[in-house]
Amino acid sequence: MSFSDQVKEELARVLPERKCCQAAELAALLYLDSTLSLGAPGELGLSLTTRNAAVARKFYRLAKSYFSCRPRIRVTKSQRLRPGNTYTVYVPLLEQVQGGLKALGLELGHLRLASPPAGLVSRPCCQRAFLRGAFLGAGSLSKPQSPYHLEVVASQQERLAVVARLMREHGLSPRLTWRKGQHVLYLKEAEQISELLNLMGAPASLLQWENVRVLKEMRNEINRLVNCDAANVAKSVVTGTRQAAKITYLTEHYDLEKLSPRLREVARLRLVYPDFSLQELGQMLEPRASKSAVNHRLRRLESLADALRAEKEAAPPADG
Ligand SMILES: [Zn+2]
Repeated sequence: MSFSDQVKEELARVLPERKCCQAAELAALLYLDSTLSLGAPGELGLSLTTRNAAVARKFYRLAKSYFSCRPRIRVTKSQRLRPGNTYTVYVPLLEQVQGGLKALGLELGHLRLASPPAGLVSRPCCQRAFLRGAFLGAGSLSKPQSPYHLEVVASQQERLAVVARLMREHGLSPRLTWRKGQHVLYLKEAEQISELLNLMGAPASLLQWENVRVLKEMRNEINRLVNCDAANVAKSVVTGTRQAAKITYLTEHYDLEKLSPRLREVARLRLVYPDFSLQELGQMLEPRASKSAVNHRLRRLESLADALRAEKEAAPPADG
């Protein structure tokens, strides 16, 4: 089962206690994922088609209780390419169903559901229920190991407007795009997806999401540190080699006995260990010296070598 289906299974098991929330969730399922269709000959109805059995079951229960009617379910074996079943829950447009739709703010005009259910989602409990219904009907979520992506799709952009507004009211910042004839409302940030899972009421999926996410981010951080460390080591080897080269120049053109014992000792160590860090050199000195003290001494040796070389180059070549 995909992670998305797993989240839906969990959300489908949440049955809101309050009538107001049940209505909001049903409205979201109808608004985002139902279509008008012909059921029995000449009979018009609303149907919701899904590949997730738990979603079909939930819609069935909500519709049955809210409209006081008996929806019909049709199960179709899917094609060879996509194994599994497809479930269609069909609600005939009886008189009480039409009345119920009106109460949900969903009116039938020109054979399609029109006008968003504005008054339905004023309370926070109902807002969460609406978001849950929207995700159950038209949403999907990538598995946490993949790049983070949660989306809700609809064929008409205005159907996503309510969902986008509710997400924003809860501090999320969804973005909108267009893909293969569908409008897509999506979230890309891991924190925001966690927050939405929390709002919709999927604590088990949220925990699993967070566990994988923490591991993934820890691994990224370790890789970053390792790369950064490797870069630092490479940099210090380059510096050490340059210093050793300058000290070699000093040994050839200068009497090292003229140096103070401290400088002489650092010069000797650097020549032998060009790849050692300043800290490592400092620990080999007697008495031990700090990183910055070693750095200071090496700089003095380098500038002495530079000055000597400049002097040599400026002087006229000695005659035979
Ligand atoms: Zn409510």
